[in-house]
Amino acid sequence: MPRDSESTLAALANVLRQYWGYDRFLPLQAEAMNCVLQGRDSVVVLPTGGGKSLCFQAPAVCLPGLALVVSPLISLMKDQVDSLRNCGVPAAFANSTQSAAERRRVADDVRAGRLRLLYLAPERLLTEGTLEFLQSVRVSLVAIDEAHCISSWGHDFRPEYRALRVLQEAFPGVGIHAYTATASETVRRDIAGQLQLRDPEFLVGSFDRPNLVYKVQRRHDRLRQIREALERHRGEAGIIYCIARKDVDQTTAALQELGYRALPYHAGLSDDERRRNQEAFIEDEADTIVATVAFGMGIDKPNVRYVIHAGMPKSLEHYQQESGRAGRDGLEAECCLFYSGADYGVWKRIIEDSEPSAREGALKSLSAMLNFCSGVQCRHRAIVAYFGQQYPAATCHACDVCLGQLDLVAEPLTIGQKILSCVMRLQQRFGGDYTAKVLNGSNDQRILQLGHNRLSTWGLLADENLRTIRDWIEQLVSQEFLVKVGEYNQLQVTPAGWRVLRGEVTPRLLRPARPAKAAKPAPSEDSWEGVDRGLFDELRRLRHERAAAQHVPAYIVFGDASLRDMARRRPSSLAGFRQVNGVGDKKLADYGQEFVERIVAYCQANQLPLDVPPPASVPALLPEPRLRPPPGVTALTAFPLFRQGLSVEQVAQRLARAPSTARGYLCLFIQQERITDPSPWVDPATVARIVDAVGQVGAERLKAVFDVLGGQVSYEQIRIVVLCMKNADV
Ligand code: ADP
Repeated sequence: MPRDSESTLAALANVLRQYWGYDRFLPLQAEAMNCVLQGRDSVVVLPTGGGKSLCFQAPAVCLPGLALVVSPLISLMKDQVDSLRNCGVPAAFANSTQSAAERRRVADDVRAGRLRLLYLAPERLLTEGTLEFLQSVRVSLVAIDEAHCISSWGHDFRPEYRALRVLQEAFPGVGIHAYTATASETVRRDIAGQLQLRDPEFLVGSFDRPNLVYKVQRRHDRLRQIREALERHRGEAGIIYCIARKDVDQTTAALQELGYRALPYHAGLSDDERRRNQEAFIEDEADTIVATVAFGMGIDKPNVRYVIHAGMPKSLEHYQQESGRAGRDGLEAECCLFYSGADYGVWKRIIEDSEPSAREGALKSLSAMLNFCSGVQCRHRAIVAYFGQQYPAATCHACDVCLGQLDLVAEPLTIGQKILSCVMRLQQRFGGDYTAKVLNGSNDQRILQLGHNRLSTWGLLADENLRTIRDWIEQLVSQEFLVKVGEYNQLQVTPAGWRVLRGEVTPRLLRPARPAKAAKPAPSEDSWEGVDRGLFDELRRLRHERAAAQHVPAYIVFGDASLRDMARRRPSSLAGFRQVNGVGDKKLADYGQEFVERIVAYCQANQLPLDVPPPASVPALLPEPRLRPPPGVTALTAFPLFRQGLSVEQVAQRLARAPSTARGYLCLFIQQERITDPSPWVDPATVARIVDAVGQVGAERLKAVFDVLGGQVSYEQIRIVVLCMKNADV
């Protein structure tokens, strides 16, 4: 294998295009694939939907020999293998669900060198016979999926993974690569140590999921709030998580009654019923699964368009994992969380009954979760900060806070002081509900009995909605101006709260916006840009027919992103169809004719234009309009330098390349890494001028921007800022 050769990466790009129909790498994919091609051990942490599978699948097609993929999830193996075969990549799995005859056939295929990838569960791989057999064939690489399972520090430790440490000796000279979506620094090091990796490359992507739109609300009417969210996703697939089984049953029954195609999933159902409901969901026979956390592990459905939490999870790790099941395909998806102080109480009781050594950590995680819910910070920023990363942009355009669905109150200091004074007047002996009622001027029996209607703070916020006041109290708790103490969560003013009372600090308080308030479009709303919805639905039906005939889930035929691209471009020929995102050679041969015929018939019947050119997007800014070659090895070498903040000139000097070449690398870097902040390369005043000019003449023609700026700003700077703006908008 020639090291670092441009031709190997070019071969990889061809494979990506030919088999998967993709023309660009997702962030860190190119680097991860490069490690595999070079045989350098690696630990790769990419978020759900980050495209981890392709990191080893594409190199497995390029390299001679058989790639071994270790995965704990037998239920996913068939899916992955079906998906690979549908793209024309010969792959198989070996597990306990197979008959002896099937296993023999797989062994024959391995022996004859007919397979590129073989999926195995760890316990299967490590049986003596299997290991010996695989040692007798040429192995190209070993990929370990869900690698956090090997670490007892991770949240899903599986002892059988520990035995994988023998792989290093069993396959000397073969690269071993570990992939996971969640791993702290400790877990990453532990994975490398347990697998005895040799000087591995650690590649850690951003924990942010830009295509997810987070919305968090206090729960006041569970069913109504769920229905409002579902109405935004009619006919689309999604998951509703509840804390308790009885909530699952009640919610499912209510939704079914209202005509929604919803099914339940929890540990109280029979194995058979669970399996049937899961299959119905995967095969698009049901739109919504209402479930406890028991649902999800082993679900790889890419087109989940919403995840609703009808109750608060017990930690942000859980929230990230569960909400992360939305939008694996990279298209926009909505994550709604409806929480209540009661959820906190439920989890607290459960934690207090648990193993004493784990209590402190679990309570901390629970508090962090509650702070997230009642917090007033951008949700994307709050999540990545929790996982120790910085959020690069000023606003995400993809959460209730940044979309302006929550309004900052005009006089937070006065309101904060009113609330804190009331807590003091109540002698810090009452909880949030009661305090809110007193502030609201309630004549509740208990308030009258205790004479609290005579307090000076009674009715101070009588003009406000009770729910809003209750929310503000939680916001003051999350900003640590109040704490809840004791069994009844009595409110107490903290030292920081006293500073508010003295007027030294001002809290940030939000009021929930009216639903009618216009929100800025979600970030990836433009993934619907130019898409004819009617044609999209027509193609969805055709996809469903084909999937049913093949006995595979619909997304194995085509992902939603591909269908949208078809309904946008509306190709009338096979050559045009081949240009669609996600159409490789095999899918072109298998489905092209039928899909093109359906597109042409639909467009003629509905008088829609055919062969529409794709909308101008970021790639069009680069010289090569569509089939852009991947960043070559030198471009990749430049990436870490740009990451360190080196200028174009410095990078050019280090790599002994012309500045114009380094400029090209920088543009690729900004695109590949989806950089949104141009400040390392362009000074803030110039950025502001360019943004202003783009506001006047748009970003499609750089020359127009250049002219508006009177030729005083270089094309290079304009290009950098425009690319970052596009990334922020995607
Ligand atoms: P992960 O295992 O990290 O959750 P997957 O490997 O399942 O992610 O990939 C998520 C989705 O992204 C899949 O639908 C996959 O086909 C798609 N995908 C992966 N790489 C690319 C790429 N380079 N271009 C476009 N789509 C991609």
